[in-house]
Amino acid sequence: HNHIDHATPEKVDAAIEAGDTHAHIPDYETYDRYVANGGYGVLKDLRANGDWEAVQDKVLDAGLRGLGGAGFPSGKKWGFVRMNEGPRYLAVNGDEGEPGTFKDRYYLERTPHVMLEGMLIAAWAVEAEKAFIYMRDEYPAVLEILRREIKALEDAGIVEPGYIDLRRGAGAYICGEESAMIESIEGKRGEPRHRPPFVAQVGIFGRPTLVHNVETLHWICKINREGPACLNSVEKNGRTGLRSYSVSGRVKNPGVHLLPAGSTIDDIIEASGGMLDGHVFKAYQPGGPSSGLLPAHMNDIPLDFDTLQPHGTFIGSAAVVVLSDQDSAKEAALNMLKFFEDESCGQCTPCRVGCEKAVKLMSLHSWDTGLLTELSDAMTDTSICGLGQAAGNPIRLTIKHFADEI
Ligand code: SF4
Repeated sequence: HNHIDHATPEKVDAAIEAGDTHAHIPDYETYDRYVANGGYGVLKDLRANGDWEAVQDKVLDAGLRGLGGAGFPSGKKWGFVRMNEGPRYLAVNGDEGEPGTFKDRYYLERTPHVMLEGMLIAAWAVEAEKAFIYMRDEYPAVLEILRREIKALEDAGIVEPGYIDLRRGAGAYICGEESAMIESIEGKRGEPRHRPPFVAQVGIFGRPTLVHNVETLHWICKINREGPACLNSVEKNGRTGLRSYSVSGRVKNPGVHLLPAGSTIDDIIEASGGMLDGHVFKAYQPGGPSSGLLPAHMNDIPLDFDTLQPHGTFIGSAAVVVLSDQDSAKEAALNMLKFFEDESCGQCTPCRVGCEKAVKLMSLHSWDTGLLTELSDAMTDTSICGLGQAAGNPIRLTIKHFADEI
């Protein structure tokens, strides 16, 4: 779809009208099908006589936490945003750029209205004057689906024309960081902001802004349509809820697997059809490159929020990559740092220079572990945002668990 990427918005619209999107549009649940299945009934009831605090209680009771990776309790955000005087905005973070993560795309290419109804419920709860959807341009089918279905919502009178503002990202990983995303929505270069103030106080164009990830909104809708039990009735290994693991690597059936949040890597490999023939499980990335690599023998940890912190890592967006005896942990860690070097926004020195120096040091035959540890710690302690703060994780974990390779 190169000619579309480089075209003017007018040309894109003309191409789409001619059906020339070069995107394979899957058979998804359209507005009519969603409504026939009871869709938007909850939203209409809430708008007619709903109590936002009762809905907030439901979301808190379900135990829903932000599924973009930060894991902040979703209901609490509503309170923080409402504390600030309007006009308020809502922004959907659809910039799913974490390598190995594809769950948001999975849901949007199948049931887009579950997210859209969740978005409108959240917008109602904080009385948002406008909803922005920031969607990565690498998902042309999703963009086309959203264009069609937003139009259907406008035609049906569910939203005023223009209430939902669909924005295309331009391929920068950092724009998935919520304050950089807001800068980008404002038409500026995507650079993370210092906090405080938090985006709930000063967000898009200085207004209080509620930011939710796509999958978080999907579950906000489900909780309202099916009840909090759809999440809080699932228990495993002392953990509650469900997790959409994006699984890739040396497994037979990679893809999105919806499993209990207490699942271990063994459970996830089993749900993915087991290891590929001829491959022996060696290591795994539990939640995107920022989470580094853990060795295969650490296979009894529930891969959930909070459970990985004692091991020096975190679940993030649950992007699980499975490596085998045919992969090099050292090469994988170097690859992760090269990614951060490419994607660092360059705003702060520890990250901009640190990633570059780390790549140089990690490209050597043997690692200077003392210097790399010092560098990682400096990046974690002094970088402005999560990219630079977490970039040292793959270095530290490789030094700790794969010493024989470095
Ligand atoms: Fe930019 Fe990296 Fe600093 Fe984040 S840590 S603001 S990505 S330079």
